[in-house]
Order: sequence, then structure tokens, then C-alpha cells
Amino acid sequence: MKKCGRCKKDKDYKEFYKLKSGKNKGLHTSYCKACNLEYRKEYLKIRPWAITYTYIKNRMHDKTSDSYKRYSKRKMSLGMKELKHLWFRDRAYRLKQPSIDRIDNDKDYTLDNCRYIEKVENSRLGGLIGSKRAGVGRPKKGVLK
Ligand SMILES: [Zn+2]
Repeated sequence: MKKCGRCKKDKDYKEFYKLKSGKNKGLHTSYCKACNLEYRKEYLKIRPWAITYTYIKNRMHDKTSDSYKRYSKRKMSLGMKELKHLWFRDRAYRLKQPSIDRIDNDKDYTLDNCRYIEKVENSRLGGLIGSKRAGVGRPKKGVLK
């Protein structure tokens, strides 16, 4: 049994997610699954650009994805702080489906080279240059746990 750090209830270990990476890999999260989900929802409501952050990170680190080869060489110099800056600079909160776009597709995810645009617009641009470019995707299953 483990006490959840949020609802303070004693719950079975299977009610907690295990960390999948990092130096605490294999350990259980301090919040139970239900609380984790709630926490995540609230977190993303306040910091929607965190979705972008996860999205970019996934693209760059997911070895099973087709884009891995294309992205593995890229440096990610966009942190949460920079994404927040872009979010407000580009007024992403006014977009229906904000999506991060690299202005020059051959350059890295950097502050200078990124902007938030409407997701449909991003896909359209991607179609034009013939490479698959998606916008702010839903974070992959498993990443949030
Ligand atoms: Zn809980």
C-alpha cells in the first residue's frame, strides 16, 4: 500500500503509475492514477504549452517513430520558458488548435525558428513541401503517466 500525495488515501500499488524514465525509473508516482490524471488536466489548463513541449520531446526521442531519424540530430533548445514566451507572443490561446511550426523546416526547434500557428495551417504547409508535419499532437499514451 502507498499513500497518495494528493487525495491522501492509502491505495494499492497498482493504483499508481510507475515512472518510465529518468533516474527514478521504476518507482511509483507520488499521486495515484486518478489524481495524476486530474493533476495533469489542471496543469495543462494553466500551461497549455506543456503539450507542445511533450510533443517536441516525443518526436525527438521516440526511436520507434519514423521521424526519429529526422529529428534525432536536432537540438531542442526550446524549454517550457521559451514555449510560454512563444505562446503569448503568437497569441496561441486564440487559436482553435495551436500547433508549433518550425519556420525553416531544416532548422532546429529554437526560439527564432518556431511559432504557433493553427494546426490546419501547419498541415497545409507541410503538404506543400511534401513532408509530414503535424502540429501540437496529443501527447502519446504512456508519457503522462
Ligand atoms: Zn490520489
